[in-house]
Parts: sequence; C-alpha cells; structure tokens
Amino acid sequence: MNALFNNYSRRPICIVEGKGTIVKDSNGKQYLDFTSGIAVCCLGHAHPALVKTVQEQSEKLWHISNLFESPGQVALAESLVKDNHLAHALFCNSGAEANEAAIKLARKHTGKHHIITFKNSFHGRTFGAMSATGQEKIHKGFGPLVDQFTYLPFNDVEALKEAVDETVGAIMLEIIQGEGGIHEVTEEFAQAINEICVNHDILLIVDEVQTGIGRTGTQFAFEQTQLKPDIVSMAKGLGGGFPIGGILATAELYETFGPGSHGTTYGGNPLAVSVAQTVLDHVFNESFLNEVQDKSKYLINKLQEVLPQEQFEIRGKGLLLGIDCGKDVAALVEKAEKEGLLLVAAGPQVLRLLPPLTVTNQEIDEAVEILKKLLVEEKSPVV
Ligand SMILES: *Cc1c(COP(=O)(O)O)cnc(C)c1O
Repeated sequence: MNALFNNYSRRPICIVEGKGTIVKDSNGKQYLDFTSGIAVCCLGHAHPALVKTVQEQSEKLWHISNLFESPGQVALAESLVKDNHLAHALFCNSGAEANEAAIKLARKHTGKHHIITFKNSFHGRTFGAMSATGQEKIHKGFGPLVDQFTYLPFNDVEALKEAVDETVGAIMLEIIQGEGGIHEVTEEFAQAINEICVNHDILLIVDEVQTGIGRTGTQFAFEQTQLKPDIVSMAKGLGGGFPIGGILATAELYETFGPGSHGTTYGGNPLAVSVAQTVLDHVFNESFLNEVQDKSKYLINKLQEVLPQEQFEIRGKGLLLGIDCGKDVAALVEKAEKEGLLLVAAGPQVLRLLPPLTVTNQEIDEAVEILKKLLVEEKSPVV
C-alpha cells in the first residue's frame, strides 16, 4: 500500500525515459512501447519537434484564460476542420470531457435528451461519459446515471431501427470500439445510421478519442466510412502526450454553444495548443498518413505470416490493431513485457497493438518476433 488510491491495476515496472518507440525502466531495461500511452504518444516519446515546442512556448506563455483571444486555438481549429465537412472546434483537456461537451451540445441543440449508444462502447469516466458507456462494469457502484441513454447491440441494424423514435436526439458511437475489443462499425450499419439520422433529424456523434489524429491511417476514422458526423470528439493523440481534448462540429451547431453555454478553465491553453499544433503539422500530411497505412499493412502481413488464422483473428485499422486470441490475454501481456514488448489488452481476449505512428518497420519486425515466440512457439513444447 502507498499514498495513492489503488484504482489502476498497475504493472510492476517504472518507465523513466523514452525516445521514439523505445522506453527504458528504472533498472535500465528497454522495451518497445506498443501502447503509446494508450494511443496518446502518436509521434513517439520525446519527439524533437514537440520538445522544442514545449521549450519555446513555456518561455512565452503557459496559460491565459479563455476570457482572452486565442489565435493559437483558432489556428488549431482551422487545421482540424480544413479537410472535412466540420466547421468549428472547442477545446478541453481529456476524452471524457470532450464527450461531455458533445453530449451537452447535442442535447441543447436538439432539445431532446435521449441518446442511443452501444454495448461495449467506452466514452470515459465522468458522469455523462460514463453514462454513455455501454458497459455495466464501468457503471457499477456509482448510483443513478445520467438519464436517457439506451445501449444497443453494436452493428445490429434491426435493433437500431426498432429503438429509434421521436425522443432520440443523437446516436453516439466509436468507429472502432477500442476498449471494447477492437470492433469496427460495419458498412451496413454505417449506412443504416446515416439513413436514420437523415430521416429522423438525429445528430450523429462520433467518438474519435482513440481513433482520431491519424491513428487509423486517415486524419479521422470516420473518413473511411460513409458516416458524416455532426459532432466529433477527440483527445488522446491530439496532444501527443500533452493533455488536450476537444470537439469538432458542423456549422449548423455554431449558435448552440454561444457565450456562457459551456467552458473549462484550462481548455486549449497556449501550451497545450502549441503542442497540439505541432502534432497536427506532422500527422495531418498525406505522406505521413500514407506511411501509417503502409506500416499498418506491413504489420498486418507480418502477423498473418506468423499467427495461424484459425486461432487468431486480427482486427482494426491503421495502427489501432487487435489480436483476438480467443482466451484470456492478461498473462500474455505480462510475458510480452518480460520479453521487452509493452502491450495493452482490449477486453479480456484481445491484445491491442498501438505503436507510435512513427514506429519503424524494424521495430515492427522485432515486436512480431516477440509475439510469435509468445503466441505460437511456446504453445507447442519442443519435443
Ligand atoms: C480513452 C477514451 C475515452 C476517455 O478519454 P480520457 O482522456 O481517459 O477521459 C473516451 N472515448 C474513447 C473512445 C476512448 O478510447
């Protein structure tokens, strides 16, 4: 026991420094970090451009209230909407807060409070975001949730059609359920959602907290689907390790968040915004995103080469990949760590691979070697 709450099941290693994909623990042991702080450190650890930005901006101005103009926020917002149909941004500090903003914006805009979300989704731990999350284990013990969320089975067109009525103001989903086990939205489901949203005047909220900022090989994952969200929430990769989140929304929603309607003290402070801008200057480039797609293909091919298909299913997009092992993976995560590879699970049976977007093919080779050893070779004892 120590002076901290015990609300995380922490692994017994202490990472003290990192560079790119490699991190080092307090004993000097090195690891390939295929967690990226859970899809956060998209440019790897201690990226020189981010280090420089933090140094330079921290000497100028860390924080000033949102009571004053923020050209940095305007520029960041412009970078985020310049290549899509969205028009405006608002900044906060985390994924849960981004989803709170999205939920509040949808409720206020439609005047309707009923929001459809999906089983096994994850939207965060604050009351609104937790209530949106379709997992009982996340709700347990916290008493009455925020009202009027309905959790439907994911990718079930019939269930969705049945549940929609005039009380529904919004549908909220992840393009790839991250914490829920790396499950992608199907084309049929995306099409059904589109039709329902148009026909019933329902807003679409896409939670891109994990999938956004290049993680799936495009700026946002919705670009690879037919979905056209009214509101997008984001965080994780946006600051590359510096806490910042935000929402994007279409021009129609602009008036709904007028002065005094919503806000947060830190949201988009100059230090956070300058780091996020540097992240986007790197990630929101066609050549960078093409490389992410190439690395994804390379990693998937390598995995398919070494892992027997009948035993392991590989899911996901870009560098948000899952290996469904069909059995509990907690012990495998620990073993991988001993071999020098940091992984995180997605649900009980899925190993999640989230390397920095800057990972090299050589690092991918090394990681796959370790996975091969753990998943295939140690299974069949040498005779
Ligand atoms: C991580 C995550 C969140 C919560 O983000 P926090 O920054 O931890 O509040 C919300 N939605 C999705 C899809 C996530 O992966």
